[in-house]
Amino acid sequence: MSASTAASAAYIVAGLLFVLSLAGLSRHETAKAGNAYGIAGMAIALVATVGLAWRDGDVLAVGLIAAAMAIGAAIGLWRARIVEMTGMPELIALLHSFVGLAAVLVGWNGYLSVEGAAASGAGEAEELGLPVGIHSAEVAIGVFIGAVTFTGSIVAFLKLSGRITSNPLVLPGKNALNVGALAAFAVLTVVFVVSPGLAVLSGLTVLALALGWHLVASIGGGDMPVVVSMLNSYSGWAAAASGFLLDNDLLIITGALVGSSGAYLSYIMCQAMNRSFLSVIAGGFGNEGSTAASGDVEGEHTEVTAEEVAQLLRDADSVVITPGYGMAVAHAQNAVAELTRTLTDKGVEVRFGIHPVAGRLPGHMNVLLAEARVPYDVVLEMDEINDDLATTDVVLVIGANDTVNPAAAEDPASPIAGMPVLHVWEAGHVVVFKRSMSTGYAGVQNPLFFRDNTRMLFGDARERVEDILRAL
Ligand code: NDP
Repeated sequence: MSASTAASAAYIVAGLLFVLSLAGLSRHETAKAGNAYGIAGMAIALVATVGLAWRDGDVLAVGLIAAAMAIGAAIGLWRARIVEMTGMPELIALLHSFVGLAAVLVGWNGYLSVEGAAASGAGEAEELGLPVGIHSAEVAIGVFIGAVTFTGSIVAFLKLSGRITSNPLVLPGKNALNVGALAAFAVLTVVFVVSPGLAVLSGLTVLALALGWHLVASIGGGDMPVVVSMLNSYSGWAAAASGFLLDNDLLIITGALVGSSGAYLSYIMCQAMNRSFLSVIAGGFGNEGSTAASGDVEGEHTEVTAEEVAQLLRDADSVVITPGYGMAVAHAQNAVAELTRTLTDKGVEVRFGIHPVAGRLPGHMNVLLAEARVPYDVVLEMDEINDDLATTDVVLVIGANDTVNPAAAEDPASPIAGMPVLHVWEAGHVVVFKRSMSTGYAGVQNPLFFRDNTRMLFGDARERVEDILRAL
């Protein structure tokens, strides 16, 4: 068997492992196996790719790949060890930006070694197995998708890490700007295919960088979950575009898998948040009027002590816990799991209600609860638990805010109006664990805190849950 046949076979095996990986990652029980399939697929792909370069006798390429892998692996291991669960979303956004940047560099490299070399007559232009026009189109599209992904992901990183405001940027005529940029991209691509010049490719790159920045900057805090998964999808398409340029089938397959699964996840999240998919990917199209400003909510809140909450729980038959981002910040998941075991041992029915965008990344709460060994069968999705909340004795809202905000269901003027939320206010008693009266990620005031059946338990969520455990 020739080396290239062996590499093709390895790529097919790797592609199948990536499909198995995605299938595994779609369920709690099989997620670890899914990760293992992904790692195995990537290891096979790397060995096959390095093997091909080795067969070609390209010692410099093998040395460069080895050096890049060593440096990348060292940085990756270091970051993975130190990153907090609360820092995962911005780290993922940053990683997407690298994929975008890589696609831009691959595109530029393709141009310099084919069209650029042919035009300048300096050195040999690389031989192509396809018409130059098609190659030029691949370069233009790859650079465009990569550059949009690059700057879009940088803005997402800045917003998620709190370095810039999460409020949407509202430039005058922002939709016209986006449509104009897409039209200009189409024109520049045609011009580049007809006459591939450095100036056209430079203009196209700058245009795409600006469009990526503007698209994500225009999206408000509440829609950021969809943006993160959308950028995941873009990074997949950017990788697929690089696959065409590098003539690498596996990169095309992998990029398409990431691109389509990310797009599907975005679609599911848009449905969960009652948002229009097209509106979100078009940079908040149609949301010009809504900014994430907080509305004034009148009322007085009532505080409660950990001992009083312990008494409420002792008297309860059914308890639902709705965790949010604050549980991740407080590292409260183990204490919450302990509370679940203690109450269950006392004969109280304890279940969890998970909002699809709770936390700062898809599945954030599920990952934390799985890490704390909370049984999967008591962890329910929002749609599965919402109808039961009216007959629940006590709901513990642990570090959640936007995802339990009644304004989304009751106030059409609210910036998060229409977003489905957990109807915790329908329960007998609601205890909200948080440190202050401040707003959540979307910057919207929460009338839940002023309801008659709501009690506020202030302080760090982990410390307060531990206080309750001691009192129990
Ligand atoms: P929110 O961000 O709305 O609220 C979190 C709450 O936790 C805050 O009110 C904060 O109040 C409290 N908190 C923070 N630290 C602590 C602590 N140590 N102890 C106790 N409480 C704490 O959380 P939700 O999960 O309800 O909503 C998620 C939001 O994030 C949504 O708006 C969603 O759209 C957005 N988002 C989600 C993403 C995803 O993929 N899931 C990605 C990007 C954004 P205080 O400061 O007073 O303690």
